Amino acid sequence: MTRAYSFYSIFRRRDGRARQRSRVSGSINGVLEETPEQRAREYAFGPHRIRRGVEVFFSTRLTYAMVNVRPIVEHHVLVVPRRCVARFADMTHEEVCDLWLSAQCIGARLEVYGQARGVTGLQFVLQDGSGSGQTVPHVHVHVVPRAPGDFEPNDLVYEALERSPLRRLSPDAATQRNRSDEDMTVEREELRRLFPEREHQVL
Ligand code: AMP
Repeated sequence: MTRAYSFYSIFRRRDGRARQRSRVSGSINGVLEETPEQRAREYAFGPHRIRRGVEVFFSTRLTYAMVNVRPIVEHHVLVVPRRCVARFADMTHEEVCDLWLSAQCIGARLEVYGQARGVTGLQFVLQDGSGSGQTVPHVHVHVVPRAPGDFEPNDLVYEALERSPLRRLSPDAATQRNRSDEDMTVEREELRRLFPEREHQVL
């Protein structure tokens, strides 16, 4: 036991449960630690500034993924190239590969994670250009975990995606306010645990 502590320092959370800090990986319970400066780091999303510590749960050298300020279902997330590029055709091959490989990985893990609440499929949506419904001029892939019957008829999912953007406030806008930072931070922390690998937490 004492020997094990020479590799791991154990400390206690306020709730009394043990947290394990790995000296080798700099992680707590497998999730990479971040300094306050790293959490404050900002990412571009068109004209918006996205704070890592509030919204970003996954990042590679070329891509990041964030929780949605107006999700249409639980864990409806966005996968975004780090470079601010408006159109799909503006992306390099390397960026395209990384974006879609990231979306594949994120979708697969969100589907497994959502199984308990009935998730059995995924929708990957990329609206490219204002004529297609794109509202933020920065390429992004919507990853939408789907459960049977969540939208009846099924194609209502596209209407929901149309309604969610900030610029199209519907008459029931009062009930469609943006989520609070606190709310998004909780989801961000929850989802970050699904992607503990260093290559998915590139700062
Ligand atoms: P689209 O209509 O395909 O351009 O989708 C834009 C998406 O971005 C919508 O799902 C919005 O809810 C989402 N969105 C807009 N601004 C933010 C933001 N600051 N943080 C997170 N999601 C955002």
